[in-house]
Amino acid sequence: MPQVHICEVGPRDGLQNAKHLMPTQAKKAWISALAAAGLREIEVGSFVPPKLIPAMADTGEIVQFAKTLPNVKVVALAPNLKGFQRALEAGAHKVTFPVSASRLHSESNVRMTPEQMVEEVRRCAAHPHPGVEIEGAVSTAFGCTLQGLVPEDDVVRIAAALAEFCDCVALADTVGYANPAQVRRLFRKVRNQIGEKLEAAHLHNTRGLGLANALAAYEEGVRHFDSSMGGLGGCPFAPGASGNVITEDLVFMFESMGLDTGVDLQRLFAAREILVEGIPEEPIYGHTPLAGLPKGFRAAA
Ligand SMILES: [Zn+2]
Repeated sequence: MPQVHICEVGPRDGLQNAKHLMPTQAKKAWISALAAAGLREIEVGSFVPPKLIPAMADTGEIVQFAKTLPNVKVVALAPNLKGFQRALEAGAHKVTFPVSASRLHSESNVRMTPEQMVEEVRRCAAHPHPGVEIEGAVSTAFGCTLQGLVPEDDVVRIAAALAEFCDCVALADTVGYANPAQVRRLFRKVRNQIGEKLEAAHLHNTRGLGLANALAAYEEGVRHFDSSMGGLGGCPFAPGASGNVITEDLVFMFESMGLDTGVDLQRLFAAREILVEGIPEEPIYGHTPLAGLPKGFRAAA
């Protein structure tokens, strides 16, 4: 068992926010390469209306394909019961529901208050879903481009409500507003309320603090991290900014600290080549792939 567990969210969070479309065949090749690099959990798409987000129109096919890869937990995002039913039909192993802690973000994005959205997830959780894991992700937990400050009490309350019926809960810095002190404080507050149900940190690198925030979360006891290869996706509100915390740099940080991630860095770099082939126009980021591994580097395992 790896000491740090990484969920690659590039095929979902990255491609959903990318300016260009990746063809279905290229997605399959990239996801295969990610799995071959040792990523044991991959968020492969989201079940949103294809008219709204064309990049996610092939999610059903991608889920079914990803399920043929050995030892991969296949995750999909769903915003509502309809999306959840599509995820179950396709056979996703785990479904993530985003619930925005920012009232303004929630109302403008899903036309529901955070409380209404929690009830929507409760309705989904009550729907039969044998063997399928449900994650509640509190998004905009560290700040919001519309609302600015998001009160920490709101985040704690929503996380506690989700913990009643979700298998696990994540905190997401959707727009890259978080700093390490805030990450430590908020993870501690939420863990005090819901204990081990608090699982993952979903961090963005919009202002370059992705790794610092990941380390802060690690030191606060977090062992599950979402990240995206090449920091794919950018941020619609911050031109030139990368998307999620960058998988290659995150793996390098933990491995060089002596913490096993289960991911092979050379194979990860190979997967990055396949990503670039699949969506060549899209900017990608990452320091470790450009600099290469330090002389004498040894992986943790
Ligand atoms: Zn995200």
